[in-house]
Amino acid sequence: MSALLAPWDGPEGAGRARDLFAEAFGGAPEGVWSAPGRVNVIGEHTDYNGGLCLPVALEHRTYVAVRPRADRTVRLVSAQEPGGAREVDLDAVAPAGTRGEVPGWAAYAVGVAWALERAGLAPAGSLPGFDIAVDSCVPYGAGLSSSAALECAVAVALDDLAGLGLADGDAGRTRLAAACVRAENEVAGAPTGGMDQAASLRAQAGHALLLDCRDGSVEQVPFDLAAAGLALLVIDTRAEHRLVDGQYARRRQVCEEAARVLGVPSLRETADAVMAGETTLDDVLARLDGEHRRRVRHVVSEIERVRELAALLRAAPGAALTGGEQARTGALLDASHASLRDDYQVSARELDVAVEAARAAGAHGARMTGGGFGGSAIALVEAARAAEVADAVGEAFAAAELTPPAFLLATPAGPAARS
Ligand code: ADP
Ligand code: MG
Repeated sequence: MSALLAPWDGPEGAGRARDLFAEAFGGAPEGVWSAPGRVNVIGEHTDYNGGLCLPVALEHRTYVAVRPRADRTVRLVSAQEPGGAREVDLDAVAPAGTRGEVPGWAAYAVGVAWALERAGLAPAGSLPGFDIAVDSCVPYGAGLSSSAALECAVAVALDDLAGLGLADGDAGRTRLAAACVRAENEVAGAPTGGMDQAASLRAQAGHALLLDCRDGSVEQVPFDLAAAGLALLVIDTRAEHRLVDGQYARRRQVCEEAARVLGVPSLRETADAVMAGETTLDDVLARLDGEHRRRVRHVVSEIERVRELAALLRAAPGAALTGGEQARTGALLDASHASLRDDYQVSARELDVAVEAARAAGAHGARMTGGGFGGSAIALVEAARAAEVADAVGEAFAAAELTPPAFLLATPAGPAARS
């Protein structure tokens, strides 16, 4: 039987972080805060094109136990990182690639403090140093955004401790999310769009987050899978992200070039024009060469798929999708995967095996999720059959001599908060 990786409940996560805190630093933290990982239901490689995506926050969260200090020192320990506590001087934090850069995982945490001050959300030099103990049940490096979960947990902790009040409403949370993006891009030196941090800070339980990446606006779309007897099975392929840096940059560049040829600020405007009937996708593609044509076909069709799935969910409150709507939802997931595999060319053998095995075992639909070249896939399944589908995927991996995958269920959960 393939085990499903269960999330910790709040008391367990908080207890673990408190225990680690006491062991590493002695005494008790001021509090524990937590933030979820996320999985994107549909809308891949649309964020940097000003497009739409539809992530959900996971029940799987990262917990941080924090106690402010009287100085500007940050001491950090994580149950996921061997090597004991790290120490960083907040006044010495510098961007990645410059002298004083913060090596390793600590950059994701101290980067948030740095970014809050840089963005003027807290006066420069005003945030206290702190001791922080981290523990998490978000799988690492699986495309489920353990990095944003860590940043966003730190963000709500610092917001609370410094009395900034930003976490109290969506506008403030949007600013916290922007600071977390800066931490990841500038201090950790990792390219990231903004979907992950938006999901972790702005998602609501029982909903998917329709995120418009052009203006950062969101809509909460009801997504109560259980009401329809459905489950979203996440398959962590354990495949390493290969070549992902160069490939990601190349995809972005091709999209920007295509937008220039088409005379639009971003491919979002092309998608909108096609949707409004001002032009057709065929006419757009006829103006582009081979590589650009394929990439644009993916981006424009993917934005349209996000719109269609969001409309289906909106029309079925509680996501009580009827049989026909379930089939259509599955077809949209399948079409997204085909587009990412064939037109955008960011899939991997492990992802294709996962998707095909899940469908053969009766999933309504399945697709790779995240940037690609490894990471995770999702499958929409009957809730009662989730374990069976997971077993079938595990068997397909064994037959293909691949590393055994890990599984969890994506149940749309709530955002970063005090635990
Ligand atoms: P993903 O976000 O898909 O899980 P990333 O490569 O973006 O993968 O982020 C993973 C990195 O984030 C880790 O290598 C580590 O540096 C940092 N990180 C995430 N979670 C934790 C944690 N619980 N403790 C320490 N570092 C963490
Ligand atoms: Mg990440």
